[in-house]
Amino acid sequence: MLRSHTCGELNISNKGLEVTLTGWVQKSRDLGGMTFIDLRDRYGITQLVFNMETDAGLCGKARKLGREFVIKVTGKVAERSNKNPKMPTGDIEIIAESFDILNESKTPPFTIEDKTDGGDELRMKYRYLDLRRNPVKENLALRHKISIETRKYLDGEQFFEIETPFLIKSTPEGARDFVVPSRMHSGQFYALPQSPQTFKQLLMVAGYDRYFQLVRCFRDEDLRADRQPEFTQIDCEMSFVTQEDILNTFENLAKHLFKTVKGIDIEEFPRISYDDAMRLYGSDKPDIRFGMEFVELNDLAKEKGFAVFDNAELVVGINAPGCGNYSRKQLDKLTDFVRKPQIGAQGLVYVKFNEDGTFKSSVDKFFDQEALKTWAEKFDAKPGDLILILAGATDKTRKALNELRLEMGNRLELRSKDIFKPLWVVDFPLLEWDEDSERWHAMHHPFTSPKPDDMGYMETDPGKVRANAYDMVINGVEIGGGSIRIHNKDLQKRMFTLLGFSDEEAQEQFGFLMNAFEYGAPPHGGIALGFDRLVALFGGSDSIRDYIAFPKNNAGRDVMIDSPSGISQEQLDELKLKIVE
Ligand code: ASP
Repeated sequence: MLRSHTCGELNISNKGLEVTLTGWVQKSRDLGGMTFIDLRDRYGITQLVFNMETDAGLCGKARKLGREFVIKVTGKVAERSNKNPKMPTGDIEIIAESFDILNESKTPPFTIEDKTDGGDELRMKYRYLDLRRNPVKENLALRHKISIETRKYLDGEQFFEIETPFLIKSTPEGARDFVVPSRMHSGQFYALPQSPQTFKQLLMVAGYDRYFQLVRCFRDEDLRADRQPEFTQIDCEMSFVTQEDILNTFENLAKHLFKTVKGIDIEEFPRISYDDAMRLYGSDKPDIRFGMEFVELNDLAKEKGFAVFDNAELVVGINAPGCGNYSRKQLDKLTDFVRKPQIGAQGLVYVKFNEDGTFKSSVDKFFDQEALKTWAEKFDAKPGDLILILAGATDKTRKALNELRLEMGNRLELRSKDIFKPLWVVDFPLLEWDEDSERWHAMHHPFTSPKPDDMGYMETDPGKVRANAYDMVINGVEIGGGSIRIHNKDLQKRMFTLLGFSDEEAQEQFGFLMNAFEYGAPPHGGIALGFDRLVALFGGSDSIRDYIAFPKNNAGRDVMIDSPSGISQEQLDELKLKIVE
């Protein structure tokens, strides 16, 4: 090594030691006869001192060092007179005796400091400079730690890490594929995998029993804030297991990560059915850091002469504790919130539970104190609370109330980033009706097994069939999902028929899997966790981009290497491709 130590490790116990450090010039200050330089590497920052009196030549040379110059410096560790308790190396400095410039640097386009002056786009363009900054480096260190701990845990549970191919075959289910033209087979295309789903199932057929992979997945989906066209999953599959075994294994993985990475003990994950999640939270990824569960009011509120309730399929509300003193203005703001087009409620009904035990509501004309009291009892409301009610079509109203619940959770500061509340959502429906294509779609994917008890409804009442499918949800974020798979050719065929595939189409697209099922496929199931999202959650951020070394921007572009970009006519010719404007 060119260095004897890193810039993060020297302290008072090294006093008097002759050391050589390498790194980048973070900043330099000239104070009278002295020049101080902060030298930075991956491990930290160490202060260098050059003294005009003892070595004017060296000090003069040091004064010419620009920001981000790469240097190698030799000197003695000395105790600082002016200590900085905020830095691990803050008790010492290096009295420089000599240095070499290993490389010069242009002035960087933004400051390489924790709080930089660089805008988003600029930092993306010079991502290698942004990566030098502490907060970004710490994010990648967290990512590394979580990946290592994941591997340790799964290795301990007898999982094999096995790679699956990136150049595969395009299939119609799920999101859009990214495709790669083949030069050797002109007119034919590979697709990049949306996930290794079919390969991991084939590994189970092959007898590998327990597989995992930290794997890149590619989905050509429409742009949305913080969506990356390529992202990483902790992808897993197991044979000879029940749903219970899979939930336990991955609950324990999550607990292991919380413990080893964050030092947090997590209690057993509660489980909630999809139906209950929708009924109590209006969401299949409920944030259970706080309560405020939905209370349905149809029995108490309908047929009392208030048309909005009478005409509604569902009257449902939440109790916001301690908000009974909300002003007219605050209530109007909440009404504006639920009326926003993205949320789409018509209006908001409120009931204030006054401290004196009386009620004040926006529907006093239709409901007397006695009636409002029965509501309050149903909500388990206390004096000082505020009940907020929406009414309308069931799905839409639940969705809107979910948004209002989360908003109230934010207002009441019940959604701390330092608290982690994971849960399992289970018993998802097998299928969902797609209005556009007017056909059933697999809610998870077409390889998910229906619950044996519901199989009889597959042809007669498909919407009623539940699946052995589950999601891991933490703090309102879907961290992962999986299912017990179909491992029988005939059932898989039935599923494809349900999804509108002809036998020929099913055979052409997925024949390889169905054929494999004829050679002793074991019962199996698995899960995939969104690795980038998990890391962001651990880091306390909503942005997965901050945890990826070289992310794409929100338009799906890599502005550093300028991709996507055109290719040469020669390449197009070789691939027998023609760009049609
Ligand atoms: N392959 C699935 C996905 O990417 C996860 C699974 O079912 O294991 O969502």
